[in-house]
Amino acid sequence: MKGLKYISILGASGSIGTQTLDIIRLHPDQFQLTAISIGKNVDMARAIIEEFAPRLVAVADADAYDQLRSEYAGKVKIVYGEDGLTEAAVFPETNIVVTAVVGSVGLVPTLRAIEAGKTIALANKETLVTAGHIVTAAAKKHGVSLLPVDSEHSAIFQCLQGEKKKNVEKIILTASGGSFRDKTREELKNVTVEEALRHPNWSMGAKITIDSATMMNKGLEVIEAHWLFGLPYEQIDVLLHRESIIHSLVQFRDTSIIAQLGMPDMHVPIQYALTYPERLPLIKAKPLDLAEISALHFQRVDFDRYRCLRLAYEAGKVGGSLPTVLNAANEEAVAAFLQGRIAFLAIEEYIERALERHKLVKEPSLEEIREIDAETRQYVRSLL
Ligand code: MG
Repeated sequence: MKGLKYISILGASGSIGTQTLDIIRLHPDQFQLTAISIGKNVDMARAIIEEFAPRLVAVADADAYDQLRSEYAGKVKIVYGEDGLTEAAVFPETNIVVTAVVGSVGLVPTLRAIEAGKTIALANKETLVTAGHIVTAAAKKHGVSLLPVDSEHSAIFQCLQGEKKKNVEKIILTASGGSFRDKTREELKNVTVEEALRHPNWSMGAKITIDSATMMNKGLEVIEAHWLFGLPYEQIDVLLHRESIIHSLVQFRDTSIIAQLGMPDMHVPIQYALTYPERLPLIKAKPLDLAEISALHFQRVDFDRYRCLRLAYEAGKVGGSLPTVLNAANEEAVAAFLQGRIAFLAIEEYIERALERHKLVKEPSLEEIREIDAETRQYVRSLL
């Protein structure tokens, strides 16, 4: 159909993936799903196939792959593993690839999608954190847009519409502070996985919810912003804002600040990335009633309290292969915490140890990034 946008979703069964499906469901005259990837959730894959009829389904888990392949033989193309994920990313008819997989597994498929000229709706921040120089150079070379899905980056992107970069004084990412924002470092010693997963404002996947509690999520977002908006770290600030109503702000050189506000609802930035530069109604989202909210609160960030945020700034400023180490160590440490194998405060400790032992590579190639990523994971596992 004319004007239809064809969409691949990498990570369709996750939080961003299912909310992207909501948006496609709301606007069937605008969007059509062409390809998805899932991990091992066979039931969800079935439901998506029945409702949206994607032509290709990439499956990460071997058993789930066998199951789906036997069920849909001759009807839907079912592909497997990392190569399958890339197939979903470069599916010929696709215009927009929503990269909603969690972790550095999103890197190669995103690069291949860029090389194939697809617009990227970027929900996988690890891609830019771990290989920002390669991904942004590829996007430039192939004339491809990287549209942010992360709520803070979508906010900044919206605030920058019609503005010139030279007039930007700084961008300010807001942070809710996560599930432990009212706890002291002393009180963090004995927190549980269950407590960590209780985010005060946003409903998100497990990994990112833990990242919010450690503030590593904000750290990764600072590095993501550095690459997305081409700004030095000195021009990127973080501001604690409990209510998550202001999603981020841009301060200009005449002291003027432009902010983007709304209820904390990921449907909004997802839809904006898919409709950009247009906007569409979004009946699913609750409009913000400022009178009802009545007060918004702000606080400076304490970098001693949130050591992960400090580590992220430091790794970002040094650059090269260091953010890859930061990210890989974090992914492994968070996984270990979620499995109940290490304490909450051990997450930052393991990341710090991985950073300290690393021998910096200044402009790592994709191959080197993959090696460093694997080697860092190995090291963190050896600490457990
Ligand atoms: Mg965010």
